[in-house]
Amino acid sequence: MILTVTLNPSVDISYTIPDLRLDTTNRTDQVGKTAGGKGINVTRVIHDLNKAVTATGFIGGHLGGGIVSELNKNGIKTDFLSIEGETRNCIAILHDGQQTEVLESGPTITDYENAAFLTHFKQAVGYADVITISGSLPKGLEEDYYVKLIQIANNLDKKTVLDTSKSNLSNVLENSFKPTVIKPNIEELSDLLGQTVSSNPADLKAVLADELFSGIEWIVVSLGGDGAFAKHNNRFYKVNIPTISVVNPVGSGDATVAGIAVALEDNLDDIQLLKQAMTTGMLNTMESITGHIDINHFDDLFNRVTIIEY
Ligand code: ATP
Repeated sequence: MILTVTLNPSVDISYTIPDLRLDTTNRTDQVGKTAGGKGINVTRVIHDLNKAVTATGFIGGHLGGGIVSELNKNGIKTDFLSIEGETRNCIAILHDGQQTEVLESGPTITDYENAAFLTHFKQAVGYADVITISGSLPKGLEEDYYVKLIQIANNLDKKTVLDTSKSNLSNVLENSFKPTVIKPNIEELSDLLGQTVSSNPADLKAVLADELFSGIEWIVVSLGGDGAFAKHNNRFYKVNIPTISVVNPVGSGDATVAGIAVALEDNLDDIQLLKQAMTTGMLNTMESITGHIDINHFDDLFNRVTIIEY
C-alpha cells in the first residue's frame, strides 16, 4: 500500500466567467468542485494506476468531510486526522483566457493536533510500503515538520518520496533524515540553490553532484515538456519524452510522483521507474481534470520515452 500525505488539502473550486467584471456581481453556472492539494492529486493518480493507496493528513469541518466522501465514493481509502479548524477552499476563476486564483491559507494546526498527527502517522506508516509527502505545510507546524515525518518513515524502513519546495525542502536536505526520492522542477531547484539552474544536462549533472543532495537515493528533476534529468545514487540519466498534445499540464508533477511511488513499491529498475514517472506525468497533461490519468494510453507513451545514461 502507498500512503500519501496532504497536510493542507483543499476543496478546489473553479468558476468559468468569460467576461469577469470587477466591483460588481458576477454570476456563473459553470462551477467545478473537487478535492485538491498536491497529495490528493498523487492519491488519485495512484488509484488510476489500480494500486492500493490511502490518503492521510489533516482534515476539518464540513469541507474536509466533503473531501473524504468524494475520495471514498471513488473507492479511495482515507485515514486523515480530524482537526478543529476548517479545511480550506482554493478558487480559480477562468476568464478572458486567463486564470485568477484566490488561495486560502487554511486552518492553523494546534500543538495538540501537531503531536497527535505524529502518532497517527507512525501507525499509518506501519501498513505502508511507500509514503509520498507533497505540498506546503499548514500554519502552526514547525518548518522542519517534514523532517519528523521522514524520520518516522526511515525508522520503520519505509521509502519516501518528497515533493515540496523552499524552506520545507531545504530543511529536509540540511537534516540527517533523508527521503528516498525528491522531485524538484527546475524552478524549485533554482530556488533551493539560490541560483538560476539551466535545463542543460551537463549543468544539471554538475548541480546534482552537490554535497547538499548526498544521502538522497533518487533526485528526479522534472523538466515539463523536456522530460527529466535524474540521478540515482551515482548514475545520471537524461529522460526524453515524445511531443504530445497537452490539455492541462497542472498537476503533472504530482502524477510523476505517483508514477515514482508505484515504481518503488513494485521494485522497478531505473529505466522502468523513469519511463513510468514520465508516462504518468504526460498522461496527466492529456486530461482536463487535474490529477487524473487514463491508463489506456499508458503503454503507448511508456514505449516512446527514451533514456540516455549521462
Ligand atoms: P506541477 O507543479 O503542475 O505538478 P511540475 O512543475 O512539478 O508540475 P513538470 O516538470 O511540469 O512538473 O511536469 C512533470 C512531468 O509531466 C514531466 O516530466 C513530463 O513527463 C510531463 N509533462 C509536463 N508538461 C508536459 C508537456 N508540456 N508535454 C509533455 N509532457 C509534459
